[in-house]
Amino acid sequence: MSSISDQAKRRRTFAIISHPDAGKTTLTEKLLLFGGAIQLAGTVKGRKAARHATSDWMTMEKERGISVTSSVMQFPYKDAMVNLLDTPGHEDFSEDTYRTLTAVDSALMVIDVAKGVEQRTIKLMDVCRLRTTPIFTFINKLDREGRDAIDLMDEVEEVLKIKCAPITWPIGMGKRFKGVYHIEQDKVFLYQGGDASKKQAVTVIDSLDNPQLDEALGSQVDELREEIELVQGASHGFDKEAYLRGELSPVFFGSAINNFGVQELLDYFVEHAPPPQPRETTTRSVDPTEEKLTGFVFKIQANMDPQHRDRIAFFRVCSGSYTRGMKMRHVRIGRDVQVANAMTFLASDRGHVEEAFPGDIIGLHNHGTIRIGDTFTQGEALKYTGVPNFAPELFRRAVLKDPLRMKALQKGLEQLSEEGATQLFRPLRNNDLILGAVGVLQFEVVAQRLKDEYKVECAFENISVATARWIDCDDPKTLEKFREKAYDNLAIDQAGELVYIAPTRVNLELAIERHPDVRFLATREI
Ligand code: GDP
Repeated sequence: MSSISDQAKRRRTFAIISHPDAGKTTLTEKLLLFGGAIQLAGTVKGRKAARHATSDWMTMEKERGISVTSSVMQFPYKDAMVNLLDTPGHEDFSEDTYRTLTAVDSALMVIDVAKGVEQRTIKLMDVCRLRTTPIFTFINKLDREGRDAIDLMDEVEEVLKIKCAPITWPIGMGKRFKGVYHIEQDKVFLYQGGDASKKQAVTVIDSLDNPQLDEALGSQVDELREEIELVQGASHGFDKEAYLRGELSPVFFGSAINNFGVQELLDYFVEHAPPPQPRETTTRSVDPTEEKLTGFVFKIQANMDPQHRDRIAFFRVCSGSYTRGMKMRHVRIGRDVQVANAMTFLASDRGHVEEAFPGDIIGLHNHGTIRIGDTFTQGEALKYTGVPNFAPELFRRAVLKDPLRMKALQKGLEQLSEEGATQLFRPLRNNDLILGAVGVLQFEVVAQRLKDEYKVECAFENISVATARWIDCDDPKTLEKFREKAYDNLAIDQAGELVYIAPTRVNLELAIERHPDVRFLATREI
């Protein structure tokens, strides 16, 4: 067995961020294909649809062809071990999507060449910035007509505030799409359609001056040479330090559905993307190469095995190694637990894990004792930071059908909110139960699960709440005054923290302006 530090260095743990329909699922599939984890593309979607409908909300998931819960895919590629963490993206978008980004070492941003930077991508970039996550960019769907590549670079730089370093450059697009030029390698990769479900040979021509290129590209060759001269003069070169600081993104072009441009992306990614880095706890920074196991839980997924009503806690290993059957200290409750049957997420085979290293994710079975943000160690009382709650973007009021079930409703909402996809708020001025989420499907999931698991029938009604902010203030007197003034807009969250519930954005801005000594926070450390 190689050492922990060798294993840590091989790990590339990342997530794909994109707006729905940019091609995340397709690209995921192709990455698995190149990683040898699947032989034929088409299985990621297939697996989504084929998963057994094991409860009503799983049926809901199946009907919509979307995945309510996200997962982890591990595959070896060259010398690296890649961990790709799925970020739910369509209606299944939730706070889990954001929190998954706290468990990765880097991210890959996918942009649709016709649409450019879209709203969800902007939000996900903001979340990446909380931990200066290095970002790769893949501009997808070059087989379609889209926007000018230079304009797109400008848009990314301006809107997302990150410098672009094109590594490949497209040769035409849509009907005139001929391939990509690898600026760093000075090679042209020619595009040919065909069976996209398999890995295929690509014709490569060395050097931009090669006469073969004139033959292959015809009239487009002069265009390409001119454009590359322009791009090289005007754009940034790849600067690894700036990339690692999250200030510059290497950019690739391609067509995921046609497997094109993906290999170049993956090769560059495993070479340059960072392995696990030291991470902060409340007491000290922990280096991944430390001998002892430490890590934290960033997601809890329920009902994977509804017969046991089991919950899986997704645990990110930050240092040391996990071996089957070892004892781990559950720091928050101060208890040692023996972990014999942690799950692994090898893309080709989901089984029980024997060993896991920094950067890896393992699934811990639990019956409600584990919470998001919990740290596990081999004895040391550490607490990892940086696994926050995010302010919800959607709010609904729970309306109970049978008033006698109030206790059960409260308990259900509390327990389901502990899993982290929703948050519960109780206004100071009345007895409302307000549920907050960042994805609309969560309300349906909660309603269905309340019915299945708590025998409570409840509906979620629209209310006029635009956003929420956690309140922080150093001076108790100022806080008390604020509490009186803003009483009607204040609530308590499930952890007992004070939250400002804003009916409109304008209201929030005014409140911030009026109370300069009070901090309004969009995230809260768990
Ligand atoms: P996601 O919502 O980001 O996961 O996007 P999907 O991977 O599901 O892709 C959305 C749609 O775009 C699907 O219909 C794909 O077939 C299509 N698509 C993905 N990649 C490409 C591409 O390179 N070219 C074209 N023309 N379509 C693509």
